[in-house]
Amino acid sequence: MKYHFSLLLVTLFLSLKVSVAAAFVDENSAENEIRPLSDYLIRHWETRDGLPHNSINEIIQDDKGYLWFATWQGPTRFNGRRFDIYDNLRETGLPDIGMYTLAYSPCDGSVYVAGNRGGIARFYDGHWQTLQSAPPFVNDLAIDRNCNLWVSTSTLGILVYKNNERIAQFTTEHGLDSMFIFDSFVDSDGNLWAATNKGLQVKKAGKSKFIDITTIPEDVIITLFELNDNRLLVGTEKGLYKQVNDTEFEPFKPEIDSRISTIFQTADDQIWLGTYQDGLLRINQSGIERLSTKQGLPNNHVLDIIQDKEGSFWVATHGGLVQFRDSLFASYTTKNGLTGDYVRAIAENKDGAIIVGSSVGVSVIDEFDISPLAADTLLSNLSVLSLAYDDEQKLYIGSYTDGLYIWDGENITRHFTSDGLLQSNEVRQIAVDEQLGIFLATPNGVTHLYQNTQSTWVSQHIPLEDVLSNDFVMALYLDKNEKLWVSSGAGVAQIEIVAKEEGFNYQITPIDLTHLNNAQLAFHITERGDYLWLATDRGLIVHNINKNSWQIFNRDTGLPFDNFMSVAFDGDGNLWLGSSRGPIMVEHDSFTEVLNGQADTLDFQRYTEVDGLESAQINTGGPSILESSDGRIWLATSKGISVVDPNTITEIGNLPPEVNIESVKADNEPVIFGEELSADTDRIVFEFVAPGYLMAEHIDYQVRLEGFDEDWVDKNSFNSVEYTTLPAKDYVFQVRARYPGGQWSQPDYFSFRQSAHFWMQPWFWIIASLITALLVLVIVRARLNQYNRTRLQLEQMVKEKTADLETMARQDPLTNLGNRRAFDERLQHELNRCRRDGTYLSLAIIDVDYFKEVNDRYLHTIGDKVLIRLAEILNDEIRDIDYVARWGGEEFAVLITNSELEIAREASERMRERIATTLFDDLVEDMKITVSIGVASSYDYADHSSLLVAADKALYQAKSEGRNRVESKP
Ligand code: GH3
Ligand code: MG
Ligand code: MG
Repeated sequence: MKYHFSLLLVTLFLSLKVSVAAAFVDENSAENEIRPLSDYLIRHWETRDGLPHNSINEIIQDDKGYLWFATWQGPTRFNGRRFDIYDNLRETGLPDIGMYTLAYSPCDGSVYVAGNRGGIARFYDGHWQTLQSAPPFVNDLAIDRNCNLWVSTSTLGILVYKNNERIAQFTTEHGLDSMFIFDSFVDSDGNLWAATNKGLQVKKAGKSKFIDITTIPEDVIITLFELNDNRLLVGTEKGLYKQVNDTEFEPFKPEIDSRISTIFQTADDQIWLGTYQDGLLRINQSGIERLSTKQGLPNNHVLDIIQDKEGSFWVATHGGLVQFRDSLFASYTTKNGLTGDYVRAIAENKDGAIIVGSSVGVSVIDEFDISPLAADTLLSNLSVLSLAYDDEQKLYIGSYTDGLYIWDGENITRHFTSDGLLQSNEVRQIAVDEQLGIFLATPNGVTHLYQNTQSTWVSQHIPLEDVLSNDFVMALYLDKNEKLWVSSGAGVAQIEIVAKEEGFNYQITPIDLTHLNNAQLAFHITERGDYLWLATDRGLIVHNINKNSWQIFNRDTGLPFDNFMSVAFDGDGNLWLGSSRGPIMVEHDSFTEVLNGQADTLDFQRYTEVDGLESAQINTGGPSILESSDGRIWLATSKGISVVDPNTITEIGNLPPEVNIESVKADNEPVIFGEELSADTDRIVFEFVAPGYLMAEHIDYQVRLEGFDEDWVDKNSFNSVEYTTLPAKDYVFQVRARYPGGQWSQPDYFSFRQSAHFWMQPWFWIIASLITALLVLVIVRARLNQYNRTRLQLEQMVKEKTADLETMARQDPLTNLGNRRAFDERLQHELNRCRRDGTYLSLAIIDVDYFKEVNDRYLHTIGDKVLIRLAEILNDEIRDIDYVARWGGEEFAVLITNSELEIAREASERMRERIATTLFDDLVEDMKITVSIGVASSYDYADHSSLLVAADKALYQAKSEGRNRVESKP
């Protein structure tokens, strides 16, 4: 967002147009003073400063503050520091670079240029566009209030363009006297005026034909200007004509008989005129002023005049560009007639004339003139260090190498040197007292010069070496109590001067300043009110003479630095300090508050070249600062003498210039507002400028890249900045500008976005994280599955093993029958079932008879085989529902289910008989294998153990009753 200050600026400047040096012109009309033309700060540019051509045909200022010039070497834009020359016809599209006229359209901010070969082009939004040309030449462009472009041509009459298209042409067919039009425009009543080479004509609003203005000679009419009172002012080959009413004109200021080239009027009705041979003229209440090459105008051929938004006047001449700038200070140098530019001492005579002591002679500035003092005398080339007047208006002139002169206004009446009464020919400061005589500050102590009772000049040397360890006296001051204050390179001393019968005695008291910022060297001492003021190398030391107290003003009290050359007070009581970095002004109330302990810091203003000083360096000298009797402050600088009136201390230079971002490039490619920069972007460069013309070189800039910088970053006077490898995000670049010490402008800004490579984007990381998480999940799942499979396999194996083991635990490995444990479990199970079902089972225990013999007569393995065969027989013999097991050793047990005792006996009998009848010859040749069987029934023995005992007892009985038999009775 930009604020448009132009109106405000113009108004402000006009209200400030109170002249610094106006007292010389018109002392009585202080209220309506107008600065003399010659008192403006005049600055000049020509080709060596960057202008493409020394002839500037026309000037305009656009809304952004740029100045545009029509030159023979192309349209040129100026920002105060640099001239941009648009001389590339491919870029502008123009048929020729020679430009004669310009116009600015406030409707859309376009700049129009035209000239040679009738080329017309428009600059808008940084680009050029051509309009239908009007060959061979365009004399003038103008924009009316309906945004139409009026083109005055050399052979085509008047052309009208609307929206950059030609819509109308006015020629002799419309009653024009000539097709050669110098100037044309539509006035506020809608009348079309045409200045031709054959006089002035007008086509009244609503009419179709032009009529002649007969009150103006039918000669070349060069320029037309509508004044603030809506009357037309006409510039001709010979003077001016002003509209009286309607079509009536009368000569205006007939004393001006120059060829008028251009007319300009300020808001406060001053008329500025350009002429072809007579330079610049200005008409206002005080009459007609002329400014030509004699007064510093580079060329008397003036082509155009405008006033910019800051109030400066710009004058286009055949000899380059000239700026007339208002300023706080007026400066006078050798250009204005000063004998030398390096000024060290200033004095004022009783008539109010200012005496200027320079490194080359002495000058006088009076109401009318600046002139050498005592030209053609020894003073004319004297290198002056110090000046002082005595009460009789005798001027004492202290020199660098030639001692002291006394000038009575007519002649040099005395000249003292080291050959006579002086200790040194270098006289740095002078104090004069009617009673005590003259005191001179020299590199060899203080010289006291006076006339004795016989009116003979004598001198006494006041050595300081013993007290201050240094004799080089920089400053001295005789206070109102007639105490002499002196400062050498090694401190300050106070000297009491005691008159003796013959000569004087001196009581020298050194002053210890070490507690005052370690100050040693005072360059200038003065007195004001109850205070003694010492400008020192460590600050301004303030001594309250009555209270004998000391204070110091320096950085600690808010001043910008510590080193001050001189001190004085202006007519408003403001404190002025001379420094090598410009004068500093502290307002009376501010330093009084600090002196009284009501405030800690001083409010100060520092002034520099921007304020009209030719040089901001205030020299040391005797003295280098002076308050003249009219209250103004004079300063001895390294480039002349400058003066300021406290009444004109204003905000000049404090109005910020408007800042524009001129170019933005990322890796050398232009960037547009809001653009997204590629991820590969290495560096982005911003160029900006504040088109300010009061002191363009001193404009300070600050930048801030929002998203990168926390705060504003000082660029001083650098008007570009670059950033490299910015992290990806949105940025807003901002820049602001100010004149030194002034207000900051509204910032200009530029948004852009730095994009990232896809692997730098957050979404990439989100997706990548998701994918990674997914992958991990899959792997874990796979692993888990595998683990589960293994586990199941293992479990299966364990199960199988367990089952095997279980089988093994219940199976007899020799016969593969169930073992006793299996039998017991089966028996218990069947017994439970019998109990539930109300049925019965029987148990037969079978023991092989005389089995020991088998083992004894044959091998043990044969015995095993017999057992195996027995098991097969038993298994074969029993029913499916019955169960046989190896009970242990050579014993077997058979569970006969669902059987009462009798059936079990029968089954047992069958088993016994089968075995007894089976041949075992293949195993045991001549042995019979028989078994004895004991049977018991659950009918008789319901529980497990009693059933077993009963069967066992029956078996025992079968044995005892002869074996190979079945028994069931216990
Ligand atoms: P009886 O039963 O008729 O009184 O005479 P016996 O010779 O069978 O006497 P006893 O029952 O006391 O002896 C059993 C013998 O059976 C003892 C042992 O040597 C033999 N024997 C037991 N288990 C096995 C076996 O698994 N293999 C072999 N070869 N012999 C066994
Ligand atoms: Mg046995
Ligand atoms: Mg046996």
